[in-house]
Amino acid sequence: NETVSKNFIEQIIEKDLAEGKYKEICTRFPPEPNGYLHIGHAKSILLNYGLAQKYHGKFNMRFDDTNPTKEKVEFVESIKADIKWLGADWEDRLYFASDYFGKMYEYAIKLIKKGKAYVCDLSPEEIREYRGTLTEPGKNSPYRDRSVEENLELFENMKNGKYQDGEKVLRAKIDMASPNINMRDPIIYRVAHMTHHRTGDTWCIYPMYDFAHPIEDAIEGVTHSICTLEFEDHRPLYDWVVKECEFEFPPKQIEFAKLYLTNVVTGKRYIKRLVEEGIVDGWDDPRLVSIAALRRRGFTPESIKMFVDLCGVSKAQSSADYAMLEYCIREDLKTKAPRMMAILHPVKLVIDNYPEGQVEYLTAPNNLENEALGSREVPFGKELYIEAEDFMEEPPKKYFRLFPGNEVRLMNAYFVTCTGCEKDENGNITVIHATYDPETKGGNAPDGRKVKGTIHWVNASTAIKAECRLYENIIDESKGVYNEDGSLNLNPNSLTIVKDCYLEPNFKGAKAYDSFQFVRNGFFCVDSKDSTDKNLVFNRIVSLKSSFKL
Ligand code: ATP
Ligand code: MG
Ligand code: MG
Repeated sequence: NETVSKNFIEQIIEKDLAEGKYKEICTRFPPEPNGYLHIGHAKSILLNYGLAQKYHGKFNMRFDDTNPTKEKVEFVESIKADIKWLGADWEDRLYFASDYFGKMYEYAIKLIKKGKAYVCDLSPEEIREYRGTLTEPGKNSPYRDRSVEENLELFENMKNGKYQDGEKVLRAKIDMASPNINMRDPIIYRVAHMTHHRTGDTWCIYPMYDFAHPIEDAIEGVTHSICTLEFEDHRPLYDWVVKECEFEFPPKQIEFAKLYLTNVVTGKRYIKRLVEEGIVDGWDDPRLVSIAALRRRGFTPESIKMFVDLCGVSKAQSSADYAMLEYCIREDLKTKAPRMMAILHPVKLVIDNYPEGQVEYLTAPNNLENEALGSREVPFGKELYIEAEDFMEEPPKKYFRLFPGNEVRLMNAYFVTCTGCEKDENGNITVIHATYDPETKGGNAPDGRKVKGTIHWVNASTAIKAECRLYENIIDESKGVYNEDGSLNLNPNSLTIVKDCYLEPNFKGAKAYDSFQFVRNGFFCVDSKDSTDKNLVFNRIVSLKSSFKL
């Protein structure tokens, strides 16, 4: 849509293309394979992929696996699955930064030969001390003026395993008095005797992020390297590496603000604790916002795309509320999901004047807002289940549902008039009685009389039992995310399991991730972990009503 204003990254790209700086753009998504992707990563994925699509460029998928301590091969597959599910297609452009270790080593040698890098023997503590502070310039390392020959030899020794971890590092020779601390001779290679998940024990030296990343981008022909705001102060170093390594087509780093969500736990540390303490059912617990959790909860890629688009791209730090994400999934499912009947808190309704043992099939539209979804046949009989809250023996004013003497519409079926109820010894209502008017089939009276209430129902003899899981925010929003002692302020009602729900038989065969609108109860999705053909389990994605307004 051309009337929509362009975000600042699009403006940069269009200027670069117009000036002929790049013939074709190339973006990338570069996760470290050290955890599950979350909604923030989705923003970065869809942003990078979307830009490549919009400007007919390329989108690379690259695992930034240069730090063997934290990486685990198990995350590579989950990350790929999440990105595919979101719809970002890297085609054959799947890369691993570790494939460039050889080239990175060559670039380090190039810098040494140019007098732009040196091997330093200071301890990590000394390096920190020499680095200075924001207000004080740093001091030159006593090893700063080693000869090129000596540096080449020492660096080769580093590579050949002559030194212990931390004994020597390779540093870029830039400016110890720079106002930007990142430019004060940053470390670009360290000794680390560690086994890498892909390169094994080939290397005992590993490049630092600030040196590796621009090289990865440049090797792949990335033109616009989009990252989050905390790397803004690193950009001069990014540009320094690109310049000193003399790449023919220098990539450009662009920073944007991270996406933060309110009312959900996003910190990896805290999620880990929730998982370890068994408070949530793994990283894909439907109350979390990892991409796997959102998928399991029933969010669609389209709803997530709508959400990140609504959040926009900017340099200003801001946060979006979970309610906005809920708005997006409602919008998406509104016309996609069939609307069917399910009773979450059942109580029996007996139609005393309906023939015993008879089951008739009534036609119900699948989605009032989307005729293309067609209609289905729903069985109706003498004994039904309705929601317990749809009956009151002594109703307050303006209660239009069932109470003795009142007539209501059973959705898509008949008008029924309540005649009374039965109770157990504790006074709990066990059965509600009513009579129906056979003339009102389909839900309208030939004499034109109106009823004020319409309730949904499920025929008892053909009902399917199911479990429904209802969710609230895992954090009690009104009281903040943390308690005074630093523990998480958990909402005790974040999960409600409703065991004996009754569903119309058309739910039979529902498969993992299938979503439905349960009439009056919200949007639900078949749980991919726990649901079976015999025991259907549904997650409530979102209720029907919203406080969120666009
Ligand atoms: P986290 O610590 O939350 O896992 P990260 O930055 O360590 O985040 P990476 O694997 O390095 O995760 O991230 C891959 C890409 O995703 C990076 O380009 C990063 O800028 C981007 N990204 C990470 N978090 C967010 C966020 N909240 N919003 C937007 N982009 C993000
Ligand atoms: Mg990172
Ligand atoms: Mg990460």
